[in-house]
Amino acid sequence: MPRPAHRRVLTVANQKGGVGKTTSTVNLAAALALHGVRVLVVDLDPQGNASTALGVEHRAGTPSVYEALLGEISLLEAAAPSTASPDLLCVPATIDLAGAEIELVSMVAREQRLKQALSPEVLDELRVDYVFIDCPPSLGLLTVNALVAAEEVLIPIQCEYYALEGLGQLLSNIDLVRSHLNPRLHVSTILLTMYDGRTKLADQVTSEVRQHFGNVALRTVIPRSVKVSEAPGYSQTVLAYDPGSRGSMSYVDAAREIALRGAQMGPGGTAGAETNGR
Ligand code: ATP
Ligand code: MG
Repeated sequence: MPRPAHRRVLTVANQKGGVGKTTSTVNLAAALALHGVRVLVVDLDPQGNASTALGVEHRAGTPSVYEALLGEISLLEAAAPSTASPDLLCVPATIDLAGAEIELVSMVAREQRLKQALSPEVLDELRVDYVFIDCPPSLGLLTVNALVAAEEVLIPIQCEYYALEGLGQLLSNIDLVRSHLNPRLHVSTILLTMYDGRTKLADQVTSEVRQHFGNVALRTVIPRSVKVSEAPGYSQTVLAYDPGSRGSMSYVDAAREIALRGAQMGPGGTAGAETNGR
């Protein structure tokens, strides 16, 4: 897959729980890393699901994104190699991060902490082309930190009833962050997940999303697949767990679409349409 013209930092966000944020983060990251680009995943969810799926230690006491947000350590000290690929690194989240949402409130530059930790120098040192930030299911300070640290937002949407509920709130938060803290932030990518071709509903959600978001929605849709949901139980991505499965192949296709867009992007990384005015 082509390396991007410029390093890309994507925040994977949706305050709705269980829509496939973590699954998409780890599998897209693994697909890119297995096809020639170096990727860093930042696990910004105290649940630590991305760390688990990438086979990275995240017991309490492990150097993690928490200490990096507090400025106690450099992100370099927390970045650990994933078992998924030698070109995939992960900054794990430990349970300590659960307190960060409240601890950050009283801190100086509380919205900029992750951006400061993900400095160009640190990312140069890690030699990464892509950074994916996996957000918790909320719009709190952790997610705001992720939105400030990235230029692009990737929103996974589950092909289910109520899928679009709450999306307006996410988009207006993105608008707020763009106007006050991070002018280059934009929704570059929408990924439809857990698509079940047997249901009419899945097609309805898909066409509604395409109507609203046009080309920002990837053509590839991730099917609902047991293999995808089993993989984290073995501390693996689905690409490692069952490379030939439909779930694995669809994540590779989605990653390729993302990479091809990245290769066409100009400085500032704005190939995707804007979502203002929704
Ligand atoms: P949270 O909001 O709790 O962080 P999330 O948005 O990160 O959740 P995931 O953890 O990625 O969502 O997925 C939720 C559940 O759905 C998990 O059990 C996961 O294994 C399962 N799942 C995700 N994608 C698929 C898929 N394509 N097919 C089947 N199961 C899936
Ligand atoms: Mg998650």
